[in-house]
Amino acid sequence: MQLEARSISKRYGEEQWLFRNANAALQTGEVVGLLGPSGCGKSTFCRILAGYDSSTEGEVMLDGERLPSKGYRPVQLIFQHPERAVNPRWKAGAIMNEGWQPDGSMLESLEINPEWLNRWPSELSGGELQRICIARALAPHTRFILADEMTTMLDAITQARIWKTVLELAASRQMGLMVVSHDRHLIDRICTRVIDFRSLG
Ligand code: ADP
Ligand code: MG
Repeated sequence: MQLEARSISKRYGEEQWLFRNANAALQTGEVVGLLGPSGCGKSTFCRILAGYDSSTEGEVMLDGERLPSKGYRPVQLIFQHPERAVNPRWKAGAIMNEGWQPDGSMLESLEINPEWLNRWPSELSGGELQRICIARALAPHTRFILADEMTTMLDAITQARIWKTVLELAASRQMGLMVVSHDRHLIDRICTRVIDFRSLG
């Protein structure tokens, strides 16, 4: 499968163009890094690629078709700020199980304490809530994961463990992974290809 950004341009309101004519393609099975300085539009680009935001011009195609607007999303975005990606009125267990039921070994490998599932999002740290969001995104029908500064809020050891789990799963299921980060070391270590966001548009 291929996820493709076709000449995507974005501006907010009457502000300057944030980026123009960005073209990029991600194949299943690939681990691609997206690098760029803070504020250049990486998160906006990811939201558009996942169908959470609209582009001003251009379109996103999944195997030559528009992204499905209903039902489970084959392109899952893991947000930089997990607290903005969840319904604060749902307990963590309901959030995690919205689309599927991760099993015990998945919880273990993401280091999710089952006790957290009975808590409200405000009762979890950012890193704990992020692990719930990662589990939520790893449903069997996910084909692409866009990881937007996914582990920035985690300490180095937890970060390494989570990436190991996600990379193994991505490889075994042949998912495509886009790793958005300003951390060149992380990207060099895990990605097969790197895109500099500023060279896209
Ligand atoms: P990055 O992820 O590369 O740091 P972002 O996509 O988060 O960049 O933001 C790029 C620019 O767009 C920033 O200047 C930000 O203030 C602006 N921006 C992001 N979201 C909105 C919005 N909803 N309305 C107006 N401006 C926005
Ligand atoms: Mg960002």
